[in-house]
Formats: sequence, C-alpha cells, structure tokens
Amino acid sequence: MEGDLVEELEVSLEATLAQLQGTETVDVLKVQQAIIRAAHQFMFERGLVQVMPLMLSPITDPLNHGVVDASIAYAGCRWSLTKSMIFHKQLALLNPALEALYIVSPNVRLEFADRAFTGRHLFEFTQIDFEFRDKDGVFVRSFMEDLLRYLFAAVQKDLPEIVSKYRPEGLCQIGELEIFRTEDLEAQYGPDYEHVKSKEAQLPFWLLNHRREFYDKEDPAKPGTYLNYDLIWPEGFGEGLSGAERENEYHQILKRMEEAGTDQQAFKHYLKVAQQGLPRSAGAGFGVERMARFICRIKDINDVALFPRRPGTPALF
Ligand code: ASP
Ligand code: MG
Repeated sequence: MEGDLVEELEVSLEATLAQLQGTETVDVLKVQQAIIRAAHQFMFERGLVQVMPLMLSPITDPLNHGVVDASIAYAGCRWSLTKSMIFHKQLALLNPALEALYIVSPNVRLEFADRAFTGRHLFEFTQIDFEFRDKDGVFVRSFMEDLLRYLFAAVQKDLPEIVSKYRPEGLCQIGELEIFRTEDLEAQYGPDYEHVKSKEAQLPFWLLNHRREFYDKEDPAKPGTYLNYDLIWPEGFGEGLSGAERENEYHQILKRMEEAGTDQQAFKHYLKVAQQGLPRSAGAGFGVERMARFICRIKDINDVALFPRRPGTPALF
C-alpha cells in the first residue's frame, strides 16, 4: 500500500515538474505580467488610487456558492482568507478623498471538486478589483470596455510573438460590447445558457441580472432582478468579470441578508456603518488568470499554471 502511494507521488512529482518547466507556463506568466503592468498604467491615467490587498479579514465575501471555509483564530478574533475585497472597497470609499480605487487582489476560494475541470477555476487566483463612488453600471461597463481595449493593445504591442503563437488572427477588437440578460438567454438556450452563448460568441459580451450576493443592488424598478453584470469571454471561455451597483441602503442590505440567510452577527460592524450610511458605488473585478487564459486560448488554466490550484485536488507545492 505504502509503495503504491510513493509511486503515485513520484508520477505526480514528474508531471508537476514537467509543467513547472513548460514553455506555455512562461507564456501565460508573461501575458499576466503585461496585463497587470498595463492595468496599473490605465488606472493611474484614469485617477483610480491603488489600495493594497488584504489576505485576512474579520469579514469577507460570502459568495453565492459553496466553498470550504478558510478561517483562523487570532488575537481574539476570527479571520477569514479573502474571497474578495468587496466590503473593503465599499468601506474605503467612506474616505472623501477617494473617489475611485483598485486593488490587485489575491483571493482564496476553496471550491469543491465539481469545479476541478471547468478549465477556469483555480482555488487561489488574482483579480483586479475596482470601485467608483456615485457611478452606475453603464459607467462601469464602459470603463471596462476602455480598459479591455487598452490591455489588449498593450499585450499585442509587448508580446507580439506570444499573441501570434496563440491567436494568429490577433486579439479581437473591442468596441461597445453586446448586452444580454440572463432571463432572456435562459428562455432561449435553457439552463446551460451562459456556456452555450459563450461558445457561439466571437466577442466578449455582458450578461446582466444574476441572482448573486446580497451586496449587488436589487433593481428598485423591477424587484427580484439585480443591477449586476458579468463579462463573458467568447469561444466557450466563460465568465471573466463580475460586478454590480451596490446595495448601500441599510434596510435593503438587511432584507437581502435575510433572503440569503447571512449571519448578521458576523457583519455587525459593517451593518453599523451601513446604518450610518454607506456610499453609493459600483464596480467590478476581473480575473487576471482568466484573461490570460482567453488570450492564450488555454483549455485548462491548471494545466499551464506554475503552481496549479485545482479545486478539490491536492498539490505538491
Ligand atoms: N469583485 C466582484 C465585485 O466587484 C466580486 C467578486 O469577486 O465576485 O462584485
Ligand atoms: Mg462571479
């Protein structure tokens, strides 16, 4: 028995080392670097202030799907590994000198093995997360389209040989992206609408109205629908960004927490701030690895990660 285990470990070690030394792995790293470098420049030009990432917090994104809770006790407090800095983005905007901010934010989401082979899930990843005070979804989507155009131009200019290796036709031109609503696509394509539409699309598109976390604003004009948006990569690459106008009114936050079954005790300080008044804001976050995956047309991001983080699966390093 023990022998089997060691042998299995050795096989995995070989495969792990082969991947670690792979050429594609470095191509993906270079694309990610180009994305982050250009994103910093773009954010600077547009006046967004960089906020440093946090990895441990008393509150983090509850997410709307199941994950293993990763938290530790320290200093008389319970600290969770960051699943997203959504609440910190809202709280930071209480500072009147900050109008807009961004974070290059590492997130840990210990998803289950049913997401092991989606091709796009790493249980540790980095998102570029941004938030604007007093802006709406229309503004954020147009900002993201500008950012996308800028990033693609930078990647094309900085890494022409990598782009032509994976996309000989060049990166797609980003204009005003098409907008769809989840309920319409669902009626047309059935329950797998997001994947089906992503597969047939040639350009990224927006998908509005997801039933998500309590912090995404419910549309006051159409209760039961939500002022949020995902950017979906084409060619079957799927979700690449999530964002929303935020629920900032105390009574609405409470109602939404009740609907979601959120532990209000854990959010008591956040709720106290909300009672005093959270700023109106909107924002989004896009996955850096997912953008690189789309650019390099990688079937499974875990196959070309220097250190894979496949959901529900052990890693050696
Ligand atoms: N960054 C996202 C947002 O701004 C939240 C998430 O990570 O899903 O809504
Ligand atoms: Mg999302």
